[in-house]
Amino acid sequence: MTTKFNPKIWPSTTTENSGVISVGGCSLTSIAREFGTPAFVLDEADFKLRAQQWKSALDKNFGANAGTAYYAAKAFISKEIAHWVEQSGLGLDVCTGGELAVAKAAKFPADRMELHGNNKSETEIADAIDYRVGTIVIDSLQEIERVAKIAHNKGVVQKVLLRLTPGVDAHTHEAISTAHEDVKFGFSIASGAAWDAVLSTSKHESLSLQGFHAHIGSQIFVANAFETSAGRLIEMLAKYKTQFGSELPELDLGGGYGIAYVDTDNPNDPNSILENLSATVTAECHKHNLAVPKISIEPGRAIVGPAMITLYEVGTTKEVVLEDGSKRWYVSVDGGMSDNLRTALYDAVYSINLVNRTSSAQLIRARVVGKHCETGDIVIHDVRLPSDIVPGDLLATPATGAYGRSMANNYNHMVRPPVISVLNQTARTIIRRESYADLLALEVDEPPRKISE
Ligand SMILES: *Cc1c(COP(=O)(O)O)cnc(C)c1O
Repeated sequence: MTTKFNPKIWPSTTTENSGVISVGGCSLTSIAREFGTPAFVLDEADFKLRAQQWKSALDKNFGANAGTAYYAAKAFISKEIAHWVEQSGLGLDVCTGGELAVAKAAKFPADRMELHGNNKSETEIADAIDYRVGTIVIDSLQEIERVAKIAHNKGVVQKVLLRLTPGVDAHTHEAISTAHEDVKFGFSIASGAAWDAVLSTSKHESLSLQGFHAHIGSQIFVANAFETSAGRLIEMLAKYKTQFGSELPELDLGGGYGIAYVDTDNPNDPNSILENLSATVTAECHKHNLAVPKISIEPGRAIVGPAMITLYEVGTTKEVVLEDGSKRWYVSVDGGMSDNLRTALYDAVYSINLVNRTSSAQLIRARVVGKHCETGDIVIHDVRLPSDIVPGDLLATPATGAYGRSMANNYNHMVRPPVISVLNQTARTIIRRESYADLLALEVDEPPRKISE
């Protein structure tokens, strides 16, 4: 029998022995026995390896002009992850007060942090400035005034970038495409909003404009989308130089680097992506007679996505006859849209493997579904699985590290699964499974209060 897992999709320490798959030297059958299912299993070595690969690719290709490789916290964050990110020499990009709170709890170095968000509250901005977060990425005209006022009141000169929309169609799903014109993010370059933002930022002494940022979307494979975006930001740097007579020191080119979810996905490695980007940046800066600024990037998915898998136990199975007379086999697992929202949210595709034994049974057309009261509760739309799968078998979906646990929810009052970190034949819980008590703890028995006008 051929290897049943595709190494391109599974964490790098994955091995197989008589049909049993192990990650970090821990068999998934033992993980299920010790920690229960569903569970996220995180390959610590793989996470750190990928984090370091992005950082060293940035350093290698941009040399003295390498800025910060920010890990995008929204893909998945916890205090332990923040420590790994710090140890690997990366920065951290947070976009809410909650993500900032985790970074603070982990004592993440503030000067290596960035605050994002299209609707930051005054409290979030104030908290970030109090923590001395290195960079705030500004997203609207009102926010320029807000950040300026709060920084001024605190006697701080805050470094800021302006998030621009370069008008690039990144050929990814609409919900995760962020830089064409009709989106909520950033200042449009084409409409002139970006330049207005530059003028308005430069009026404030409490703001120190460092340069521009763009994030063109997520799960992007078209390399030249990044390059087109970089080119447009560099034109803005050139315009700034012409009008102000000085050069801005930084460009942040965002994240969005695609990963492999299924056999047909072929992502480029960090080094070749940044090699191409570096060539474009150097050529464009040269063309406009600019020094190459510090270049920062923000990979999220490309670091944590492939490092984590979701382990499920099979519950029931059912054969359904379709309109055309063909059959589809529904295989239900003990999780679903509460631990993996991406399939329901944007038709994301995943692969899945039987991980607790070998099977030489015929492969049949199957759909893997969750246990929620919702037809759209689908983990994998269409997959071929061995026909002898029975209740109690273990299935695992690889590449669920990004936007899996971080988008997990309590729909149907499901408890969110734990994250089990594995390394060198050891396993430990870094986020525990929720309990019914956790869910009930939010309910309060409060007498009505008179609310004054
Ligand atoms: C989501 C996001 C990222 C990370 O995107 P990935 O696809 O996970 O790499 C980076 N920067 C910004 C501003 C984002 O919103």
